[in-house]
Amino acid sequence: MLPVAEARARILEAVKPVPYEWVALPAAHGRVLARDLRARRSQPPLPVSAMDGYAVRSEDLREPGAALRVIGEVPAGRVFEGRLGPGEAVRIFTGAPLPEGADAILVQERAERSDDIVRALVALPPGKFVRPAGLDFEAGWKGLAGGHLLDARALGLAAAMGHAWLPVRRRPRVAILATGDELVWPGETPGPAGIVSSNNPTLTAMVVGWGGAPLDLGIARDRPEDLMRALDQARDTDFVITSGGASVGAYDLVQETLTARGLEVAFWKIAMRPGKPLMFGRFGEIPFLGLPGNPVSAAVCAIVFLRAALLRSLGRPTDLPIGRARLAVSLDANDEREDYMRGRWKRSPEGELLVEPASRQDSSMFATFAHADLLIRRPPHDPARPAGEEVEIIEIARALAV
Ligand code: AMP
Ligand code: MG
Repeated sequence: MLPVAEARARILEAVKPVPYEWVALPAAHGRVLARDLRARRSQPPLPVSAMDGYAVRSEDLREPGAALRVIGEVPAGRVFEGRLGPGEAVRIFTGAPLPEGADAILVQERAERSDDIVRALVALPPGKFVRPAGLDFEAGWKGLAGGHLLDARALGLAAAMGHAWLPVRRRPRVAILATGDELVWPGETPGPAGIVSSNNPTLTAMVVGWGGAPLDLGIARDRPEDLMRALDQARDTDFVITSGGASVGAYDLVQETLTARGLEVAFWKIAMRPGKPLMFGRFGEIPFLGLPGNPVSAAVCAIVFLRAALLRSLGRPTDLPIGRARLAVSLDANDEREDYMRGRWKRSPEGELLVEPASRQDSSMFATFAHADLLIRRPPHDPARPAGEEVEIIEIARALAV
């Protein structure tokens, strides 16, 4: 059985970046910048006032009490025509460019105005309350690097740098297919031995959360023709994923059927719990991930492998958000499989946040996964751990985001 880290590395090797497209700035929220973005202009473009007051020559205001003649005014967005001479001031407002000749701002709270004379109550050094050109950033500055996730701040910065359209990675297209004769669609009434497919909605939402565009192909029955018919619709996708049918049961057809259809299997079965029967391969250039059917196995494998694959295709870092926390209870020694145990935060009497694994870890128990705060990750052959020891954790809410 392949170690998890090796399986991840082999999947990442097979993933290519998706091409980029141009989108209007507001529509780029949550997308990934495809290449570096430089400032088209300096911010501010000229030296500007940081206050409402009077633009002055600091040499006129070496001592408090100087009286200056106000020769005009300049609001934000306008350029003062003319030049400030000795003994002169210009009424100015926040953000307005300094008139030529001025080198400081007398704030209005420190000035007494009567008609066209203003008296300074303070002395001023050069540059006081002046924002030099390029204070925020200079033209040509690399403000955002390729791979940056475009959140609200990044969009604001891109706009300030003079960009209205942004080159972003196309959302990777992911075809998702569940398999199983027992499955019905959410909303349908299952027969006595049936169950509702929870993997379709779980995986679809995960793909959206990781910046992809899911194509839900529904449920294929456990017959080769049905599987192939469904997968015919997976053309023009960047990834194909299935769930179920990947074990060794007589109805587990995925490997056999898809191999006959051109799938090259790179590996099958990994040293992981849950998720042992994970399969990975390629249809030509398209990576294929065969997830286990059990809902917890499918979801945990998606977090560990599919997330990394999608983030790689977007040019994002692929590491899981791994943290550390102390155990509320003891753990038995682990076997040869890397273990991902569902757990929850639990506050100790002293107020420390500890982690407590669910008492049962059966991979069919989706309810404990849906309510888990985190996964406790244990390496193969991890020895028994007493309560209070530190373990690695993955906060699920963070792992569901880009
Ligand atoms: P399989 O790998 O097909 O043997 O499936 C393993 C277990 O996962 C079986 O109990 C299935 O009923 C269950 N299962 C498979 N696919 C899904 C699905 N889409 N939603 C919920 N449970 C599933
Ligand atoms: Mg099945």
